[in-house]
Amino acid sequence: MNQAAAPKVSFVSLGCPKALVDSERIITRLRAEGYELARKHDGADLVIVNTCGFLDSAKKESLGAIGEAMAANGKVIVTGCMGAEPEQIEAAYPNLLSITGPQQYESVLDAVHRALPPLHNPHLDLVPAQGIKLTPRHYAYLKISEGCNNRCSFCIIPKLRGDLVSRPAGEVLREAEKLVKAGVKELLVVSQDTSAYGVDLKYAESPWQDRSVRARFYDLAKELGELGAWVRLQYVYPYPHVDEVIELMTQGKVLPYLDIPFQHASPDVLKQMKRPAAQDKTLARIKRWREQCPELTLRSTFIVGFPGETDSDFAYLLDWLEQAEIDRVGAFKYEAVRGATSNALQGQVSDEVKTERWNALMARQQKISARRLKRKVGTRQQVIIDEVGPTVSKGRSKADAPQIDGSVYLTSRRPLRVGEIVTAKIERADAYDLHGTVAGF
Ligand code: SF4
Repeated sequence: MNQAAAPKVSFVSLGCPKALVDSERIITRLRAEGYELARKHDGADLVIVNTCGFLDSAKKESLGAIGEAMAANGKVIVTGCMGAEPEQIEAAYPNLLSITGPQQYESVLDAVHRALPPLHNPHLDLVPAQGIKLTPRHYAYLKISEGCNNRCSFCIIPKLRGDLVSRPAGEVLREAEKLVKAGVKELLVVSQDTSAYGVDLKYAESPWQDRSVRARFYDLAKELGELGAWVRLQYVYPYPHVDEVIELMTQGKVLPYLDIPFQHASPDVLKQMKRPAAQDKTLARIKRWREQCPELTLRSTFIVGFPGETDSDFAYLLDWLEQAEIDRVGAFKYEAVRGATSNALQGQVSDEVKTERWNALMARQQKISARRLKRKVGTRQQVIIDEVGPTVSKGRSKADAPQIDGSVYLTSRRPLRVGEIVTAKIERADAYDLHGTVAGF
């Protein structure tokens, strides 16, 4: 390494938005200590791979990323969910510099310091006050808790990340405020179970501005809604207290959008999955929410081919989807994950049937999504601009979360800026996206 130049680290971030927040924290700390980010592995002094261990396919991707880093660079630090069970990684790559689990920021930094000492006398003000974000400047993920108190049978996240640990409300709000002051226009509130926020703290109050705020889902959402940015709630379970938050959506304080990972609809399958809030009458609740807030967009994920899922369970799911009119859906074929209790369940479904069901679900959902989107033709929607093109720019309406939902493609008589929020007239819809013209700035 050239001692005069700043040490360079190449970073690979895999997995969910929660892992991305961990990556941002590590990078923020490294930048504070004078490290630079390299664009490529071979120009870097070392590589950090933040892995995902949720599904076997994610583990495979993580191992692949480690392999690439070893081949291109050779000095590799592994962290993240897959690092919580290091045996498989060690067996494949015995010469890694270190392996740590999720949220072990200090251990990652120690490993970096050992292999690549920071330059003497780093300037702490290298880091902008809001930290370094891997997401574009106009939106940011806000992690409100770590871990999960649920024990869904297909999931090993509680084993990897432990029980729910919520951040005090005041701390979350200060981070959110800093982000908004730094130009962030949209805050994406994430955690494993967002609606369980604060349970572990017994909803304790913490100071914020001239008052105290309870660590409660509703109270936090309400205060976040006062900061002047779009607030999008992700990974929410349909617990009864979510009803109160719909009121904040009606008032325009938080976006009329909920990402609820239902995973299934059949009571028998949900029972086997040990899903939270499985007993609640969700269809009736969704109906009430929509009456209260007609703009509400629902996004969800579903697993097909879960052990014991019968043809009639699957038919129930399709019918439920039709009635619930879920706007956006991600579907996964069930995969056994090492350490998950669902592996021992009877009635494993063949790959062929899983694929058939997956195709049937996606086809049905495409029709529902298209129908829901079509209703927007002729309306005016606010759109946040993500990418500016020479003739057409790409953005998202309040109904679209970045990276997972659809887009709005817009033409405009004046050039647009990334992060700008405009009013658009919607002229056309296809299965996932909208198209229109800017009608107001
Ligand atoms: S709610 Fe269930 S699926 Fe989600 S992290 Fe907790 S245990 Fe896993």
